[in-house]
Amino acid sequence: MYDVAIIGGGPSGAVAASELAKAGISTVLIERSLDNVKPCGGAIPLGLIEEFKIPDVLVEKKLSKMSVRSPRGRMIFMEMPNGYVGMVRRERFDSYLRDQAEQQGADVVEALVKSIKPAGESYSIELSKDLPAIKASFIIGADGANSKTAEELGFPPNELQVIAMQQRFRYCETLKPYEDLVEIWFDGEVSPDFYGWIFPKTDHIAIGTGTEFRKHNLKQLQRRFVEKLDIRETPYLDEAAKIPMKPRKTFTQDKAILVGDAAGLVTPANGEGIFFAMRSGKMGAHAMIERIHDSKPLKSYENSFRKLYSPIFFGLQALQSVYYKSDRLRESFVAICQDRDVQQITFDSYLYKKMVPAPWSVQMKIFMKNIYHLVKGY
Ligand SMILES: Cc1cc2nc3c(=O)[nH]c(=O)nc-3n(C[C@H](O)[C@H](O)[C@H](O)COP(=O)(O)OP(=O)(O)OC[C@H]3O[C@@H](n4cnc5c(N)ncnc54)[C@H](O)[C@@H]3O)c2cc1C
Repeated sequence: MYDVAIIGGGPSGAVAASELAKAGISTVLIERSLDNVKPCGGAIPLGLIEEFKIPDVLVEKKLSKMSVRSPRGRMIFMEMPNGYVGMVRRERFDSYLRDQAEQQGADVVEALVKSIKPAGESYSIELSKDLPAIKASFIIGADGANSKTAEELGFPPNELQVIAMQQRFRYCETLKPYEDLVEIWFDGEVSPDFYGWIFPKTDHIAIGTGTEFRKHNLKQLQRRFVEKLDIRETPYLDEAAKIPMKPRKTFTQDKAILVGDAAGLVTPANGEGIFFAMRSGKMGAHAMIERIHDSKPLKSYENSFRKLYSPIFFGLQALQSVYYKSDRLRESFVAICQDRDVQQITFDSYLYKKMVPAPWSVQMKIFMKNIYHLVKGY
């Protein structure tokens, strides 16, 4: 019998397991496949690398240069003066985080969770491979966008899902210029309601696009992107998964919580989820520790998360709702990105997830530029 069972060994689950085990709570982390390769661009902000002390060996690239391409092909180049986007490979990253949890004292079990049933004051977790059921007093659902935990425990649904696809290509002549650059494409032919990305790693480049679930033909969009980039090589890996970009109506119960994608904690507009997965895993684990030691309600986890990050979710949702609707609006958006103050605000909030209000005069200038480009259409 464990105090806490965590279902899902991605970044959210692994971080939660580390924090709990470190505090002396008996913890089991259940992951369906320890060789799982989560479909993911693997872009992480500097703030995450610092907070979770991610070793250099896992950060394949530290990219401070970025370019953005508009629907008409206008290119904007930017450089982060005080930071970078780190590029990790999820198979290595997730495995490292699980090892950390194990070193702190968590048990790691490789099995698919088939069902979770209340058993008196605790839960009984049925596993695949004829493994014996695991009993635990508390549950953390960290099992991603299609969370089985959420379904079994009756949490409200995950809404607003984007489906994203990515292909990995080995470096070739066409891809050489992208070796040290993050490139984002706003182009209705590549994505009518999200964006396309080019993320370089040490020995390959990940190229992908996303669109609202069940709205457009994702494979066709990806094919067009690759054609537009004039890549003739065959990818060595195709991967796709949903991205839940809206927090569930609630993600806490009396004895269970959801973290990361299972809770819907991916920001709209940019689809960033690794930071929020790890942050929610950590915050959720701390609330669990207080629940176990002092009977404090788990709701404090959800309240604190919403208080800290709702402004970011709200702002990015507004941005997506206004600018991602048509190529004309995307053209205006890229034009606005040319402004140095806009770039500075974007980088500051991306790197450390803090909304730093710009001086009033800068806010006014950006507001007027917004109006100008929206009216002009580019
Ligand atoms: C194509 C794509 C590109 C992306 N690019 C980026 C990016 O560049 N940067 C970024 O920040 N975010 C990106 N994201 C989002 C990011 O991948 C997720 O937000 C992040 O992985 C969430 O972590 P998690 O631990 O909550 O869930 P996951 O990483 O999904 O982990 C869930 C784990 O649970 C396991 N599991 C599921 N069901 C069960 C079960 N029944 N029993 C046992 N185990 C189970 C799975 O095997 C998996 O290991 C991208 C997403 C996609 C789809």
